[in-house]
Amino acid sequence: MSRPLVAEISLAALRHNLSVVRRCAPASRAFAVIKANGYGHGMLRVAAALKEADGFAVLSLSEAQQLREAGFEQPILMLEGFFSADELPQIAKLGVAVVVHAPWQVAAINSAPVTGVNVFLKINTGMNRLGFPPHEVADACRALRLGGRLDRCVLMTHFATADDERGIADQLAQFASATDGVRGEHCMANSAAILRYPQAHADWVRPGIMLYGASPFADQTAAALDLRPVMTLKSKLIAVQSVSAGEAVGYGRTFVAEQAMTVGIVACGYADGYPRHAGTGTPVLVEGQRTRLLGRVSMDMLAVDLTPVPLAGVGSTVVLWGEGLPVEEVAAAAGTISYELLTALAARVPVRELP
Ligand SMILES: *Cc1c(COP(=O)(O)O)cnc(C)c1O
Repeated sequence: MSRPLVAEISLAALRHNLSVVRRCAPASRAFAVIKANGYGHGMLRVAAALKEADGFAVLSLSEAQQLREAGFEQPILMLEGFFSADELPQIAKLGVAVVVHAPWQVAAINSAPVTGVNVFLKINTGMNRLGFPPHEVADACRALRLGGRLDRCVLMTHFATADDERGIADQLAQFASATDGVRGEHCMANSAAILRYPQAHADWVRPGIMLYGASPFADQTAAALDLRPVMTLKSKLIAVQSVSAGEAVGYGRTFVAEQAMTVGIVACGYADGYPRHAGTGTPVLVEGQRTRLLGRVSMDMLAVDLTPVPLAGVGSTVVLWGEGLPVEEVAAAAGTISYELLTALAARVPVRELP
């Protein structure tokens, strides 16, 4: 038998989660966000499963190129725009829409040998990461229109706190005043805003994490939002240890048994993408039963408490996250978010597609 670790990817769950986007934002078109290798699920695999999406959002020109080469003809949006003017001819040739977030990009488009460019003009409404300040928006749009290279200009922003109780009111008001009197469609909502703020849906939405079946909210589970986990990271016990009271487990001997106990050794470690900073107590499923991680995660293995699963043995099934154990819970126990765990899945982990 080969190493039992596998990432199962449910294509049915992907399609279901897109239907949740449709149900939440029925009047908007949706760019399925498939940057970072489809949040770790495989960019082309996700694009194929979500071919009913209205478009795809990626980071770089090389991802857009891969999609076109694989035959996808849908609109594609480059979320960070172009990084240098020499990308523009290829962008125009592939018919890829680009975020424009800074004046140098306006100048670059207006002096490039291109036509029919689709621009998503990014407005900084309070995230202070990328975008034009509200008072420069009308001028930037005018300059782009006068340049004569555009097919269209969509007005866009990104929310900093759509996932918590602070919400989007401030940024929405900034966006409304920045775009007042400026022609063009609007594109604002990430998953959190799609799920909670219909007033931000507008013409185009940009769902990412919800497509992969994780909740963007700390106070609401994916199941409560009718989202289904797409990735289940599964392995098996490859050894069982009987440990006496006072004995330790793993590197650094950080976990010491208080009484005699059985410990299972799982074929999965930080080189597979499991977070090394997950500590004792992080939830794990063994034979469907919840138990806990013990001690430090090694490169290729980790240890679990078999006290709640006395019948478990070598070969028992282990779920690290996914079906039955939300990735958000594991992430929270490791002091991070689901996005980081999913995108960190290592290339060495074999993937099994479930239809
Ligand atoms: C990644 C990204 C998204 C998707 O965000 P989720 O929280 O995963 O839904 C949307 N918009 C932009 C600009 C992004 O970079």
